[in-house]
Parts: sequence; C-alpha cells; structure tokens
Amino acid sequence: MEATVLYGARDVRFEDVPAPAILDATDAIIRLPFTCICGSDLWPYRGIQPVPGPVPMGHEYCGFVEEVGRSFKSVKPGQFVIGSFFASDNTCPHCRHGYQTSCQQKTPVLGGQAPRMRVPLADGTLVATRDVPQDDLIPSMLALSDVMGTGWFAAEAANVKPGATVAVVGDGAVGLLGVLSATQMGAERIIAMSRHESRQQLAREFGATDIVTERGEEGVARIMELTRGVGADSVLECVGTQEAMQQAVQSTRPGGSVGYVGVPHGVTLDGADLFFRHVRVFGGPAPVRRYLPDLIGLVFNAQINPGRVFDLTLPLAQVAEGYRAMDERRAIKTLLRP
Ligand SMILES: [Zn+2]
Repeated sequence: MEATVLYGARDVRFEDVPAPAILDATDAIIRLPFTCICGSDLWPYRGIQPVPGPVPMGHEYCGFVEEVGRSFKSVKPGQFVIGSFFASDNTCPHCRHGYQTSCQQKTPVLGGQAPRMRVPLADGTLVATRDVPQDDLIPSMLALSDVMGTGWFAAEAANVKPGATVAVVGDGAVGLLGVLSATQMGAERIIAMSRHESRQQLAREFGATDIVTERGEEGVARIMELTRGVGADSVLECVGTQEAMQQAVQSTRPGGSVGYVGVPHGVTLDGADLFFRHVRVFGGPAPVRRYLPDLIGLVFNAQINPGRVFDLTLPLAQVAEGYRAMDERRAIKTLLRP
C-alpha cells in the first residue's frame, strides 16, 4: 500500500508502506473513501515542530470498517464510522466527564493520509452512522473528525450563548468552522478576522456579520470600535501564536471568555494582565468524540455543511502538492481521494 510519510521540513513522500494490520484486540482497520490534510500538519511540515524520523501522516478520518480485533462490542465490519485524532476508551473518568482527548489511555491516531488505516481503542473511539452517507456528504463527515469538532469546542470553550457578540481570530478551516459553530449556538454578531477574499466569503456564508482585516494592535482596536469600546463576549483563538492569543485576550470584554484551540507554539500568558482584565481562558485538544453523535445528526439533516472548507481536491498520490497549496495559502484545506 502507498501512503503519506513526512521525512522532514517540506519533505512529504507518497511511498510504499506495510498495509495496516490488527495489532491489538481493540484495533479496527478502516478503508478511507476520502482523506485530507490538517492545518496542524503544517507545523511539522514547515519545520516549526521537529520531525523525529519518518512519520506516517494523517489524523482525520472516516470510512468503512473492514476488520476488527477480537474484543469488540459495538463496531462491526461494513459500518461507516468517524473517529477523533486521539483514540480513547470512552470509559475512564476523563472520558465520562466528556474530555476524551485527555483519556487515561489516549493514543494518537496516525496514518490517515492513506487508503486504509488502523484505529486503536476502536470501540471507544469510533462512532458509526445510522446509514451510510451519500458520497456528497462524506467530506462533511470527514470534517467532523477534527476541524469541525475543534471549531465547535472553540465556541463552547469561549462560552458562546444566544445573542452573543463573538470574534474569531484565525481564518483557517478551524476558524471558519468556529464561525459556523457560533452561528449554530445562536450568536448574534460574529466578527471574523481575515485578509483573504475567498476565506472572508466563506466566513460570511457560515454566518459572519463583520470582517476585520487588521491584525495585532490594529485588529484589537477595530474590534473595540465595532463593539463600542466594550470588547466581544466570546473570542475564539484558532491559530496558536503569541500574536493571535494576545489579540484574542485583548479583544474580550471583562467577564468574557477566550476559547483557544490553535496548538500553542511559543505562547506565554501574563498572569497579572489576565487577572486585571477579568478574562476567562479555556482550551485544549477538542474532545471531538463527545460531539460526534450530535454533529453527525446535523450533517445528515443538512443543518451544517462543514465540508465547504475543502477548496482543493487532489488524488492522494499528489499529497505533496496538497501540502504546498496549504502552506502557500492557495488552499484552505485539501481533500484527497485514495
Ligand atoms: Zn478514557
């Protein structure tokens, strides 16, 4: 089988690897009708996060169960399933509290940019859909595996309530789906921060009411202006840099909340600044497993179409071009067809 392997900065290869096999009684093998590239794959791709050696890439997945290990209760061959980027048992105390990405047995899921993959702890990790989705719904189902669930968590962590004024820092797929999530949660005003025409357009389609093109101090000043000097009730930080986090904290009104889901790279927070601002900050790896059953329902009912973030589709063999297009911001998110 040929699959995607990252060797180092900007060195993505599509090459022969051993076919995935059941290693533990709790594993499942799934066949992937589509796969994709995550914005967070760009951290190691750009060399910002070191690559320890050849790494199988891809942690967003949905597809058909082909084979399961011995100890299975719920997952069966033939089912269409979606899982999260961390495998979880869904039974430990942290899972029961709804934080499956902090599962006591959490295991990263790798190797999804391939025709087939192995999912550990599959009974706890995978959620089967009632029916097999039509082909045109599969990209939206795939988006639930990470970006949509992460955007949803950003909005939940930022405490978005009906009628709220929301600001979203970051116009990548997660930020855009944060806009969509805030819309679903009843936000009245959603300010999206973006400089890119096509991303601004999608943000509006997802429910953004205002666009701010300025960044940093100027971006904060613009949000203050739009909120009559008060600040936003909820701010979603979907980037992971110091500048983005600072912008988020400074754009929040006293008593408001920042939900942060951009994987932090060199971010430090000033305790005294947070103290005197009266701002809540909450985030982390999104507990996607908790949201999957509801989000699957929203996709089937055509209430959300998160697959709209895929604006480039390539054959899986051209995965390296998919990375380049996202790195150069020519594409929001690349969909790959094995
Ligand atoms: Zn657990």
